[in-house]
Amino acid sequence: MAQTSTHPGADASGTDPAPETCDACIVGAGIAGMNALFAASRYLSHDARVILIDRRGQAGGMWVDTYPYVRLHQPHGLFTAGNIEWCLDRRPSHLATKTEVLDHFRHCLDVIGRDLRVDEYFGWSFESATEAHGTVRIQCHRPDGRRLVVHAQRLIKAYGLGIAPNDPLPASSSRVRSVSPDQCDVRAGEIRASDAPVWVIGGGKTAMDTAHALVTADPRREVTLVAGSGTFFISRDRAFPGNSRRWWRGQLPNAVAAEAARRFDGTNEAAVARWYRATHGTGPTPGASNFLLGVQSEAETSAITAGVHEVVMDHFVDAVDRGGGPTAVFRSGATKPMTAGTWIVNCTGYIKVDGDYEPYVSPTGNVVVVHPRSAVLHLPSFMGYYLAHLMFAGRIRDVPLYELDVGGLFAGGGKHVFPYTAMALAMYNLGMLADALPATVFRDCGLDFDRWYPIHRRLLGTARFAAANHRDRAHHRRTLDTVRERFDVRGGPLVGG
Ligand SMILES: Cc1cc2nc3c(=O)[nH]c(=O)nc-3n(C[C@H](O)[C@H](O)[C@H](O)COP(=O)(O)OP(=O)(O)OC[C@H]3O[C@@H](n4cnc5c(N)ncnc54)[C@H](O)[C@@H]3O)c2cc1C
Repeated sequence: MAQTSTHPGADASGTDPAPETCDACIVGAGIAGMNALFAASRYLSHDARVILIDRRGQAGGMWVDTYPYVRLHQPHGLFTAGNIEWCLDRRPSHLATKTEVLDHFRHCLDVIGRDLRVDEYFGWSFESATEAHGTVRIQCHRPDGRRLVVHAQRLIKAYGLGIAPNDPLPASSSRVRSVSPDQCDVRAGEIRASDAPVWVIGGGKTAMDTAHALVTADPRREVTLVAGSGTFFISRDRAFPGNSRRWWRGQLPNAVAAEAARRFDGTNEAAVARWYRATHGTGPTPGASNFLLGVQSEAETSAITAGVHEVVMDHFVDAVDRGGGPTAVFRSGATKPMTAGTWIVNCTGYIKVDGDYEPYVSPTGNVVVVHPRSAVLHLPSFMGYYLAHLMFAGRIRDVPLYELDVGGLFAGGGKHVFPYTAMALAMYNLGMLADALPATVFRDCGLDFDRWYPIHRRLLGTARFAAANHRDRAHHRRTLDTVRERFDVRGGPLVGG
């Protein structure tokens, strides 16, 4: 049974406490860590002990303190640890709320806790780890100065993308009210009671959720969307067609990703983006160039398009007092008068891909890192799942996965190639994984978007993937090498081969 630890550790002034020992230690109780934990539970025996560490106070990762009206953008069943089913009496297409997502994290811990002992150390921060003589020594602390030392046989660091609540945007004008969605629920309180206009700054998922929440709560509200260079999304209607349509209609998401990866050669992202957007995309900002693998329905796009007063395709820089009232200043140099009292909501994005490089696996194979600086798949959740499987199956040092510094790609101006590069990376490495791991590992990956479709279509999809796996591998490899050289980022197989 999973237990939340009340272990005191050492006091702030004392020496390190006696180490806790365990079979595996997982840092990060977000969806990546939870999938690593699920994978561990497939290999470790019933009396094994896993220590789960997270600096937050509960499981859920970024979902713990993201804005209250956030919703999952995929059907809820597809966001889980391993093959753990949701206990939610809702239609399969339901987009889970924040509370529902957090309840599901708790449920996953309870289910995994039936198979092995999981000791939860919430509120503890990981500091460092060193390896010696087959043991990983892990140092952690609490904000009050207490310390914890763990001796583990294996360590998985599933830190995530460093997502933390956003602050309001700084504004020079005292005649506007600048807020962050993480501290200000736009559906309630003062902002809801006021009839002043709202400017939503950003064009990604948070901006869409915020604009949608505002225009559906009060269709008369004057909402301006400042969308930067704009973002488009995977059309939920095409990726996850409703009811009986999924029996025959819609292209399976993995097949779409495979086609995108096949079309992309490392240099032609503009053409691939045009094709993707026209055939599988949606979004309220025409000509949008950003795509970060978010999902949105045509109904949401229409509601936002119809409800938003104006879309500004520029980047907000400041609101200044000029003449009689506040004026917005944009990156292009353009300005625009604002109504006094306007609310500015910072939806400019959360994802930070900085941090030092660490290889996804240590030389001993006993430490695995899920991190964008050494990415091997398109999303951390999948990395947590498959890397943990490889580690516990004893194959992690002999499968030559292609590792790519996606953080460096973003920092080096390669954000626009990210989605297609991520698809190429996923196709290349999933092919390697399919050769190394039993089919049950793939069958039990509940994150797989193809699981939306009935079994006969999935089996056909799997057969097509198997046929393309070796055929397309050289192409994906050339694409990844081209991106690596073009943006001068670290990349290539780390081990084996
Ligand atoms: C606004 C927003 C909405 C999103 N919506 C979706 C969605 O609908 N569907 C989807 O699939 N994805 C969504 N994403 C992407 C999302 O980030 C991932 O799906 C996923 O939740 C990330 O999980 P993770 O485990 O990688 O990271 P996190 O959720 O960030 O978890 C990592 C955990 O590690 C802990 N940690 C980090 N460093 C330390 C340390 N030193 N010591 C101890 N603990 C540490 C953190 O406290 C955190 O709890 C969204 C992202 C954002 C920003």
